[in-house]
Amino acid sequence: MTKYIFITGGVVSSLGKGIIGASLGKLLKSRGFSVAIQKFDPYINVDPGTMSPFQHGEVFVTDDGAETDLDLGHYERFIDSNFSQLSNVTSGSVYLSVINKERRGDYLGRTVQVVPHITNEIKSRLMAAKQHFEPDFMIVEIGGTIGDIESLPFIEAIRQFKTEQGIGNAINIHCTLLPYLQTSGELKTKPSQHSVNTLRSYGLQPEVLVCRTAKPISKSDKEKLALFCSIAKDAVIECRDMKSIYEVPLALEDQNFAEVVLKLLQVKNKTPDLKQWKHLVDKINSPKRTIKVAIAGKYTKLSDAYISVVEALKHAGYQNDTKVEIKWINSEDCTDMKKCKEALKGISGVVVPGGFGVRGVEGKLNIIRYLRENDIPFLGLCLGMQCAVIEFARNVVGLKDANSTEFDEGTPYPVIDLMLEQRAIKACGGTMRLGAQECVVKKGTKAYEVYGKTKISERHRHRYEFNNTYREKLEKAGLVLSGTSPDNMLVEMVEYTPNRWHVACQFHPEFKSRPEHSHPLFLGFIKNAIEYKP
Ligand code: GLN
Repeated sequence: MTKYIFITGGVVSSLGKGIIGASLGKLLKSRGFSVAIQKFDPYINVDPGTMSPFQHGEVFVTDDGAETDLDLGHYERFIDSNFSQLSNVTSGSVYLSVINKERRGDYLGRTVQVVPHITNEIKSRLMAAKQHFEPDFMIVEIGGTIGDIESLPFIEAIRQFKTEQGIGNAINIHCTLLPYLQTSGELKTKPSQHSVNTLRSYGLQPEVLVCRTAKPISKSDKEKLALFCSIAKDAVIECRDMKSIYEVPLALEDQNFAEVVLKLLQVKNKTPDLKQWKHLVDKINSPKRTIKVAIAGKYTKLSDAYISVVEALKHAGYQNDTKVEIKWINSEDCTDMKKCKEALKGISGVVVPGGFGVRGVEGKLNIIRYLRENDIPFLGLCLGMQCAVIEFARNVVGLKDANSTEFDEGTPYPVIDLMLEQRAIKACGGTMRLGAQECVVKKGTKAYEVYGKTKISERHRHRYEFNNTYREKLEKAGLVLSGTSPDNMLVEMVEYTPNRWHVACQFHPEFKSRPEHSHPLFLGFIKNAIEYKP
């Protein structure tokens, strides 16, 4: 029988509910339970795919091609499972299906209302995920902060669902912040009390309180929170700021977080196996060296825009006992080779990540040229590969003004072009080449060296592709096409073999990197970056 854990947040946004939920998932899985997750997002966009990374951070992509909230990435990385379309629910998608049903006449003349129609739709999404995954535990995180207008239908749906499930089958973990007042040297519990009161006014009594804090919470503060929030003393859990997010599950385990949850859900506790995770945290905390790696993109003001890339780089570092420090380079500043040289001082390697639109592209081309000419490790991801192809076409093959038709429709050499099936598409949402697809890796390449096999599967999110008209020309000039689709129609990976590591891929390997199993392409890149002495 599936048990349900709802995670809400109060006091402020960006509390790290996703990390707390993912940590609980890890702790339950380490006890041998199966775990599935679902994220409810209260915005009206049907999915975050149409939102700027500046607004919402990275768009995470699942195997089945869902464009989802970045928290899903944390869940996949912590729990080491692949989730799906069913794991991401937004107000937009809920309203869209209710309105579609109304237009079809499914409601037979009734007035369509938030309660019960929207709340029923939310509950049916929950059941659909449960039926698909059949997990022991379903962790459901509600985005936003308690008190927000937008999340009310989700809160009401959970309230109904919890009541329907009965005691011991569904609980609510509420996450809050205890602000620290420097002048009086105190942690303040009042905002958390108010937040729980607001939650209660919606008919939800949390069973567990997880408090984010910069300082240890005293016993008396815990008791105060327990008393005023009507929560058992052992269910007030401290979640202190950690050096690494991967320490959070262990810090929560030390306070018997999972045991408390299991008791509330009337499930017998089991001994967790956290040996490998502890080993990971030891590695994170005792690196043998530090290297500086740059990410050259245009969303550099918000590191969340590339969060999976950052995590994948760190994972490869952990596996090599290396701390990877990130330098953010705004590619728009790299207007010539001199500027590139300055920006790359002390840098052991550069990732050019994905992106959309022409802004910053010329700077990326300059950086990639500088890396190629100076044999500095380079990893290109999606747009990064497209830029590597354009750079090679322009500066090695001599195709002046070669470009992607995304940036210059009238380019004389469209080395990157829109896929045929994309040409007729006008709508934005969910219309790219999305999700996991197979790729064949060519033997004898750097890519083959790191993957160690010819058949791989990686996740995509793009509209444009390598233009096959230019295959021969570029290959003759020395660009190795190290990965293609199984029918050989799409170029998925390129590399420039005279260099130690100049490798780029059309897909997003960062979405499949896990802290305990780093991704082969990131490993190859980081190994070369360690050996390269800037
Ligand atoms: N803008 C490019 C395309 O749509 C690359 C997309 C990406 O980097 N995710 O093909």
